[in-house]
Amino acid sequence: MTENKAKILTRDQHSISRKQIDSDTLKVLYRLNRHGYKAYLVGGSVRDLLLGRQPKDFDIGTDATPNQVRKLFRNSFLVGRRFRLVHIYFSGNKQIEVATFRRHPREDELPDDPDKHFHFVQNVFGSPAEDAARRDFTINALFYNIADFSVIDYLGGLKDLNQQRLRVIGDPQIRFVEDPVRMLRAIEFSKRLNFALDENIYSAIANHKERLATAAPARIREEIMELFRHKISAVVLEQCRHLGMLPHLLAGYPGTDESIALLQKIDARTAAGIPIEESFAIAALYLRLFMDTCPPDRSTDLTQALQKVNEIINPHCSYFTIASGIRQQIRELLLGCFRLARGHGYRGEKRFLHHPATLKSLELFTLWSQVHPDLLPLSKSWSRAINNCSTEKKISRPPRRRRKKTSRSGQVKGQGQA
Ligand code: ATP
Ligand code: MG
Repeated sequence: MTENKAKILTRDQHSISRKQIDSDTLKVLYRLNRHGYKAYLVGGSVRDLLLGRQPKDFDIGTDATPNQVRKLFRNSFLVGRRFRLVHIYFSGNKQIEVATFRRHPREDELPDDPDKHFHFVQNVFGSPAEDAARRDFTINALFYNIADFSVIDYLGGLKDLNQQRLRVIGDPQIRFVEDPVRMLRAIEFSKRLNFALDENIYSAIANHKERLATAAPARIREEIMELFRHKISAVVLEQCRHLGMLPHLLAGYPGTDESIALLQKIDARTAAGIPIEESFAIAALYLRLFMDTCPPDRSTDLTQALQKVNEIINPHCSYFTIASGIRQQIRELLLGCFRLARGHGYRGEKRFLHHPATLKSLELFTLWSQVHPDLLPLSKSWSRAINNCSTEKKISRPPRRRRKKTSRSGQVKGQGQA
């Protein structure tokens, strides 16, 4: 793809206005441009602006090298071991990411040591057209040029945006092997935007889905949390399950109809404005499996239940290197659901009701009871018990007496010295 083959939309041919672009991002774009560098808005932000959606963040592409960008902005830092970028900081700890245009290196440029390929491939600078070609989907490869406010399309992304279809740049059979995370991103974007997937994407997924297990777990973990933040965890993971991707994606996790139904409730909760925590998301994923292996009745005591929780979540947490604090929250959530599901009248109930983690377990259990309506009366009665408990706490706490401050001489302050 050469620069002149690009389709260019001039300012009057598209809907993007500078008013929609974050003001600090504009400052960075203008400054790069004033110093003679190309300065483009790149990736998801151009896609979202053209679709009339609010972009999550604004990324910048330039032909200035990271060091040249660093020199232009005092408040900037070189970041990224794998992918060298510059972060420019603004007030409120806001950061803007500037990346130098990259290209795919040729075979003969690759280092002899295959372990060094991945890092090398990410860091060969190139032209804007080459940079567009290394991206994942045509709709993610559109640029907005601050020099003349035009939109640049090298790969047919504008047509695909209009036709609401997600198309991989190049051959998916090759691009998915190159980076298996793109298979998950394909499903993610098609659900997020309600775009159709090309048939060749399905066949490439069928051929290469096992490779998801070779992707860096940290990247999969981040993409999975994106699904929860975008309230599409149920639809995306259901599709992944249907296409046989799920176990390769999540360390052997099989998924069930009920788990997906619970994720739907979680997505609705996030849509209602409650931020999603990773521990809550993971506990939701594994709740069905846990309840199956650990029936909530008198046949299982708490020690056994804790053992089962660990057996179930440890493989996931180790695979994704989940920190011990989050692991502990997952344990508390699942064990709490176990105690709620087995009903009232067990030893230690009062302490359980007062425990700060119980409220979160009840939240998860309440969503679970919407999937299992037979549990609704139980979740309601626990709700009442926990509410009574907090009212009791408020009433039984003695009123706080304000201590009178005394001066060193023993006199009460503010009462005059006369
Ligand atoms: P959003 O930030 O709204 O989730 P986005 O499109 O900006 O969506 P990011 O994950 O922030 O997605 O990635 C930024 C851009 O980087 C993408 O638009 C795409 O052009 C490119 N990109 C991201 N991941 C890949 C990948 N695995 N392979 C190729 N290009 C990628
Ligand atoms: Mg982004």
